This record gives sequence, C-alpha cells and structure tokens, in this order.
Amino acid sequence: MFLAAALCHTNVTQGTAPHTQKLTHSSLIENLMPEITLPDVEINLFTPKNPTTAKIVENYVCTEESSPNVIRHITIDLEGSGLEGVFRSGQSIGILPPGENDKGKPHKLRLYSVSSPSKGEGGNPNYVSTTVKRANEEVDGVFYTGICSNYLSNLKPGDELSITGPSGKRYLLPSNADEFNYVFFATGTGVAPFRGMIMELIEAGHKGQIVLIFGCPYRTDLLYKSYFESLEKEHDNVHYIKMISREDRRSDGSKKYVQTAIEDYDELLAPILASDNTLVYLCGMKGMQTGIYEQLAKKGYTDYLTAKGEAAEKDPSEWTWEDLKTSVKPSDRTFEEVY
Ligand SMILES: Cc1cc2nc3c(=O)[nH]c(=O)nc-3n(C[C@H](O)[C@H](O)[C@H](O)COP(=O)(O)OP(=O)(O)OC[C@H]3O[C@@H](n4cnc5c(N)ncnc54)[C@H](O)[C@@H]3O)c2cc1C
Repeated sequence: MFLAAALCHTNVTQGTAPHTQKLTHSSLIENLMPEITLPDVEINLFTPKNPTTAKIVENYVCTEESSPNVIRHITIDLEGSGLEGVFRSGQSIGILPPGENDKGKPHKLRLYSVSSPSKGEGGNPNYVSTTVKRANEEVDGVFYTGICSNYLSNLKPGDELSITGPSGKRYLLPSNADEFNYVFFATGTGVAPFRGMIMELIEAGHKGQIVLIFGCPYRTDLLYKSYFESLEKEHDNVHYIKMISREDRRSDGSKKYVQTAIEDYDELLAPILASDNTLVYLCGMKGMQTGIYEQLAKKGYTDYLTAKGEAAEKDPSEWTWEDLKTSVKPSDRTFEEVY
C-alpha cells in the first residue's frame, strides 16, 4: 500500500504518445516526474528458427592482461543481414553457437547486451558491439567451459556467425531522455548497455546527472575505464564510481559493493536519488538487485520499488531479505536486467 501510493505519479508509455510536462534543467533537477516515454523499437526480426548471418569486425580483450577474468569487446558487422541500424542500446543480440548439446539437439540461443550506441559502434549503423565474458568455472573439482561465450570469444575478424534479434523492448533509454537524471548500477559485463546509453546521452548534450556505479572484484576488471574516466573529467554532470569488492574497503572495514555506494556516496547520490525525475538502471549478475533494493529501501528511496503480497503491507524498513528477494520488484522508474 505504501508503495502503491508512492508510485501513482509515475507514468510510462511506449511509443509516440506525447509527454505531458516539459522540464527545464539546471544541473539538478525539477520536482516533477515527467512521463517516461519509451521508444517503439524493432524486436525479433530474426529468431532461432530464422536467424541471419553477420561477420566479426573486431574482438579484443578489455580486461587487463593480469586479470583472471577474460572479457572481450566484440564488434559485429551487420551489412547484408537485415539488421543494419536496428539494434538500440539496452537491447540484446541473440547468438546461436554451432553444434549440438549432449542430447543431440542444436545448442540454444544466448543473449548478449548491445554495448554500442543506437547509431552503431563508431557511428557506423552496420556495426553493433557487445561485451562478452568467458563463462568458465570449476564446480566440485570439474572445470566447465561455457558454450557460447567461448565460441564468441574465439571468433576472429572475418568469421561469420548466426544471429537473431533484436531482443528487449523495455530496457531502453526513454525517448524523452533529456528530462531525467540517471543512476546506472553495473556489475561486470552489466556495464555493456550503459556504455552505449551514456555515449548517447553525452552526444545529445545531456544536462541532467549521469552516475555510473561499477562493481567488480579487482581493479584489473574495470571495463571501459579510460572512456568513463575521461567523461568524468570532461563533464561536471558525469560521475564514475568504482566499487572494487576484493581490494577496497569502506570506512568500517567491510567490502565495497555497488549497493554500498548508496551509503558511501550519500552526499552525491542523496539529492539525485531523492529527485522525482531520476531513473535507476541496473544490469549484471543475478542477485545484485536484492542488495540494491535493500539499500534503496533503507535510505527511504521507495519510489524505485514496488512490493506485492505481505511485503506491500509492511513498512519498507521492516522488509526482510526474503521479502526483498521475492516480493520487492522494480517500479516504473527502475530498469533491471540481471542474468
Ligand atoms: C538479457 C541478457 C543479456 C546478457 N548479456 C550478456 C553480456 O552482455 N555479456 C555476457 O558475457 N553475458 C551476457 N549474458 C549471459 C549470456 O547470455 C550467457 O548466459 C553466458 O555467456 C553464458 O553462456 P555460455 O553458453 O558461455 O555458458 P553455458 O554453456 O550456458 O554454461 C553456463 C555456465 O555454466 C557452466 N557449466 C557448464 N556445464 C556445467 C555443469 N555441468 N555443471 C556446472 N556448471 C556448468 C559454464 O562454465 C558456464 O559458466 C546475458 C544474458 C541475458 C539473459
């Protein structure tokens, strides 16, 4: 009940419906929630039953050499595929790895977030990029290697691959993007959609606040670090917060995670998160959302959340971890993609 009331002033529409309020911006922020107008986007032009073919343009490691994690920036040439200029940042590309599983069935499609801006990597509408981590792990003494991430990571410029998409129609920047401030929470390859989105905001001369909170275990795993550092230097409204869990410590000695930034950077974040025209995006490792919801609730930023069942009857300060995991969901102001 508490949250239903909190949300009634937020409107989301998809498509070309006119938005009702125009805001003028100072560096912060007006006290009204503009309508969130999501763009109409193409989806599923190609499907696993009807994929198309594209070609690798570049494929390079973007974690540091000494990192135990290998994450690659991969650019795909869509020329002749029927997907030229179609992918928007926030959407995903479907990749069909060749070969069959141990039941003799073709390997299933895997999704990878677009990390280029909607106008294409380097401004070329034929080029779409993604950011791929080799999904390798040891479980009970057995080393497993991910099928599709390793297939993709091994491809060389000129190699062809079978792709589908676009996938996703909500995880996007609004078409009235200039009317909002943004707080982006990313873990690992979860930064992919934010690279493209932030490039778009910057190119459009965005005046509102843009905060990227990036979490990873080691400093060597910071992705696109020099790009985000240079943006922060050049633009007063861009803030790049690194939360490096296995290296950095908070003032009480505990580890830094993306969610602890809400407390650790309170001075910067409080006025932004308290503003009625701020949107929160989170992307990355499944489970990251629960800690973020806990911190948002603890600080009273409940407009970003909605609750069902018994949790909806409780004051957010009384939500248990179980409530946060199962009954608390993103509100219309929060965009979540975890995998
Ligand atoms: C919307 C969306 C966007 C995504 N965006 C990205 C992105 O931008 N970048 C990115 O890197 N990923 C992204 N992913 C994840 C991606 O789709 C794949 O899930 C990921 O790459 C792993 O796929 P894989 O085929 O390599 O691993 P799989 O073969 O599917 O294996 C999955 C994991 O299980 C392990 N494994 C395999 N067999 C076993 C076994 N028998 N027992 C235990 N463990 C085993 C593997 O080592 C691997 O770690 C996204 C997912 C979604 C849903």
